[in-house]
Amino acid sequence: MTKIIKVNLGERSYPIIIQPGLINRIGTLNAIHYTLYAHRVVIITDRNVAPLYLNRVISSFRKAGLKCFSYVIPAGERQKSLATVNRIYDFLIRNKIERSDIIIALGGGVIGDLAGFAAGTYKRRIKFIQIPTSLLAQVDSSIGGKTGVNHSSGKNLIGMFYQPSAVLIDPVVLKTLPESEFANGMAEVIKAAIIKDAKLFRLLTNKHNQIMELNPAVLEEMLLRAIMVKKNLVEQDEYDTKGKRILLNYGHTVGHILESLGQYRHYKHGQAVAIGMMAAARIACRMGLIGKDFIGRQAALLKLYKLPVTPNKPIRFSQAVKFLSQDKKIIKGKIEDVLPHRIGLAKTCQIPLNKFR
Ligand code: NAD
Repeated sequence: MTKIIKVNLGERSYPIIIQPGLINRIGTLNAIHYTLYAHRVVIITDRNVAPLYLNRVISSFRKAGLKCFSYVIPAGERQKSLATVNRIYDFLIRNKIERSDIIIALGGGVIGDLAGFAAGTYKRRIKFIQIPTSLLAQVDSSIGGKTGVNHSSGKNLIGMFYQPSAVLIDPVVLKTLPESEFANGMAEVIKAAIIKDAKLFRLLTNKHNQIMELNPAVLEEMLLRAIMVKKNLVEQDEYDTKGKRILLNYGHTVGHILESLGQYRHYKHGQAVAIGMMAAARIACRMGLIGKDFIGRQAALLKLYKLPVTPNKPIRFSQAVKFLSQDKKIIKGKIEDVLPHRIGLAKTCQIPLNKFR
């Protein structure tokens, strides 16, 4: 039941390995021994994930003869800062970690972004492996090499592209993920289905019960399909400069407005993206790109996975314009954004500002 997907990026290529129970035998994986020749690993994780999985990962590495260090930080987005990265550097320096050692990011997207950034900058880069444990990290953030931290002026403003040496996914760890975090990740899975994979959309619709019960075969197919969407776009546009990777931003324009208006308190990212996808679909409908039936199907799927489809408080048009202007998104009265054309196909479009009303 092991699935291996290769992310093809020339000399920065790496495998994504999906295997149930993999968290218990990480140390025995060839990806670690034969590709990396490491003797020591530094596991970076958070206080929620550590009690659940850290000992298993350590003991598996130790059995394989690797020396282990671990650094545990508090959980949550607030930790994604340069201050935390500094503390990670202190830990690495104190333990004389060398370029031949490996950093392991064991956790959700916060840990992946932080540990990846620390690995990419410590001693001019040391290798790192992602072991994503949240659904969002498994289908999205662990793949593609975007690493970084937040700044007081905004999210993800400091960062770099630094690809991991491997992404190791154990679907079984999703059993301990809180329900709200599962829904958060499902927003990105639904997004992947709408922009690129109509079969995934059908799977999510028809196999809802099995997905919620974490049925191994159905879950694996869901992960695989969502990961393939991300991997293909990353391969076409590694540094997000060719306009391909931008498709992954479906729902994110209005999502970011909501997050910033609620200052990240009212909405989790997935909830904001879900509402953002509904806003984008309504705009696409107003522009004649899709019919009303699309809006209904998208809303039904989001609701099925306990995601919101309207904001608690409507966004005023003037607030949206202010945010988009500050974000330099408005050019000659138009906004470039991703709009759906049918289930499984989205494209970037120039949208006149009045369509946002
Ligand atoms: P997170 O890392 O905060 O994890 C969510 C919560 O779930 C945390 O409390 C965590 O401790 C807990 N958790 C994780 N795995 C668990 C498990 N198996 N069992 C129990 N609890 C578990 O948040 P996230 O949603 O995983 O990631 C969000 C972050 O990802 C944001 O900072 C966002 O900017 C970033 N992101 C990055 C990219 C990228 O391409 N690099 C893409 C999307 C999002």
